[in-house]
Amino acid sequence: MGKKVLVLYYHRVYEPKYDLHLLSVMPRAFEQQMRYLRKNYNILRFEEDWTDSDRDSVVITFDDGYLDNFTYALPILEELHVPATVFVSTGTLSGDRELWWDELETLLLTDGDYPETFRLEDDIYNCEWRTDTYEFRLNCYRALHYLMKDRVSSAKRNDWFDQMWIWRGKTRYVDPGHATLIDTTCQELAKSDYITIGAHTISHPSLAKLTFEEQRREIRTSVDYLENLLGRKMDIFSYPFGAERADFDENTIAACKDAGIRKAASTNPGIWQKGMDEYKIPRNCMRNWGLFEFEAIIDELFGKEK
Ligand SMILES: [Zn+2]
Repeated sequence: MGKKVLVLYYHRVYEPKYDLHLLSVMPRAFEQQMRYLRKNYNILRFEEDWTDSDRDSVVITFDDGYLDNFTYALPILEELHVPATVFVSTGTLSGDRELWWDELETLLLTDGDYPETFRLEDDIYNCEWRTDTYEFRLNCYRALHYLMKDRVSSAKRNDWFDQMWIWRGKTRYVDPGHATLIDTTCQELAKSDYITIGAHTISHPSLAKLTFEEQRREIRTSVDYLENLLGRKMDIFSYPFGAERADFDENTIAACKDAGIRKAASTNPGIWQKGMDEYKIPRNCMRNWGLFEFEAIIDELFGKEK
């Protein structure tokens, strides 16, 4: 009887001003969650071979590569001797951009004066939104988030961002609350014995919406970049957004194999068991839960009776 492996994924360990997508776990809650796992489960590394594990185990991962993984999560992981894997999008390592949903938030939902409307110039998605109240801007945010995730290439997304910075009357800046890892902090993070870095594309697209060639480029370039930056082989990956069919498909898996990836994480929820496809590792999204809720959720995911 094979043992179960439960793979968890986090994004941020941070207390943000806004958390539209519920991506943040507060440092105190994260520490409690890690203490609980350390005490009650065997903890494996994502890149390890799990087939010979003789105990129920958990695997900790992070997506996107936020700076708080280094500033807040790392000290907790090191103190508790918990290993984790951080899947990094390389497009923000230069430090002059935010992850695209954060940039959209910075443009539309921060304090300050806004024009009455925003008109998007585009040959297909030409549209105008009212932007004079927070609610109207949230509407606009949601519409653009959907289009940027599911309908347009990263080149077009960048063109829209250029239009929006002009509309906003500001030069592009990075909100410190949205800071990502940059080259140097990524290297520092990678030096820890408890951290493994994996790839997560350049620009965080929903890969299944791209052509095969575009998918290959997003994957290959991010792998090459990280190999160069960290001086080691990059052979693990997580699919941005991560839902099978919607965000990755057979072409994506083929492009990963081409780039030398041997194990890839999805966001399909569930438990890993021996014999499962190494390119469809199931993972479970972790939120800012207090200890009692967290325990109940982990037990339920393992299928334990109360
Ligand atoms: Zn991601």
